[in-house]
Amino acid sequence: MERQCRIIWTRVIVICVLVSSSCLAQDQKPNVVILATGGTIAGAAATGTQSAYTSGAVGIDTMLAAVPGIRDLANIKGEQISNVGSQDMTVEIMLTLAKRINVVLGQADVDGVVITHGTDTMEETAYFLNLVVKSNKPVVLVGSMRPSTAVSADGPLNLFNAVGVAADPKSAGRGVLVVMNDWIHGAHSLTKTNTTAVQTFMSPLRGLVGVANYGKNDYYNSPIWKHTIESEFDVSDVSHLPRVDILYAYSDMAPDLIDASVATGAKGIVIAGVGNGNMNKPSLEAAARAAKKGVVVVRSSRVATGTVGRNVEVNDDEMNFVASDELNPQKARILLMLALLKPLTTSEIQQLFYTY
Ligand code: ASP
Repeated sequence: MERQCRIIWTRVIVICVLVSSSCLAQDQKPNVVILATGGTIAGAAATGTQSAYTSGAVGIDTMLAAVPGIRDLANIKGEQISNVGSQDMTVEIMLTLAKRINVVLGQADVDGVVITHGTDTMEETAYFLNLVVKSNKPVVLVGSMRPSTAVSADGPLNLFNAVGVAADPKSAGRGVLVVMNDWIHGAHSLTKTNTTAVQTFMSPLRGLVGVANYGKNDYYNSPIWKHTIESEFDVSDVSHLPRVDILYAYSDMAPDLIDASVATGAKGIVIAGVGNGNMNKPSLEAAARAAKKGVVVVRSSRVATGTVGRNVEVNDDEMNFVASDELNPQKARILLMLALLKPLTTSEIQQLFYTY
């Protein structure tokens, strides 16, 4: 009898130790919230080897179930914000996402956020969040080039690495990050460079922030641009952004689209100029007319890398234009939409392009 009691007590003690150590392990893991918005990472096709598929077809729980070991990296909670291909991303969804991130990261027990997102407009959402998230904690966007049902889908490992980056205290303070194909990019510099290849995102001007290797990360540098808690932009009371159009320049460009943009209500126009943000004379004149009417004109470039400088071949001072510096047209549009929320002069807006 005494021996049986001893065995029972020993078992009880062993179970208690096991339960409390697993609770402890759970407590010691970082807490990461995944906010899902859709994209190819949540896409599905009828077979594993066809190119046609539908973006944003699979929910966050299904995505997580496809990633063995992901819950060893962090305690994970998932929330669905939207389920769209990122070609259908809207300012409204971006604002909802930003506000939700600020609430979630305001909770003391949340260590980082991952956002699953389509790759087509990922750079725009990443850069937008970089300007309006009010936290130093890691914010990581992730997507995939192949749908979840594809042979050799890239989403599961990308998601695993993204959670590893969001859970890593060394990611904090580097602004919004993007993890794709083992590389960690900063929101300011990354851009999509290939329509379909798995290796599509590059940071041509500033290089990588680091690399992610099965949940272990190596950091090379920190973005130098102002972001997150240092940013002056606040969207907590904002429900829409002013309209900013992007117009693509080409040889013998027709200037009418610039006039049409102004006539239909654009408050800002970004020219995806040729070379160093150039456009032909009729378009320059149309852009100057727009600027005279109070529409802010930013000269960016359709060229994939390089900066657009002030007063090089275009007299920006005279025409009252802004030069986009390092921002490509799609990111210049994001910064200009936020800048237009404030009553700023053109030269103050120019300073924002040197700062963010
Ligand atoms: N069209 C898709 C999207 O952006 C492509 C992708 O996610 O890779 O949602």
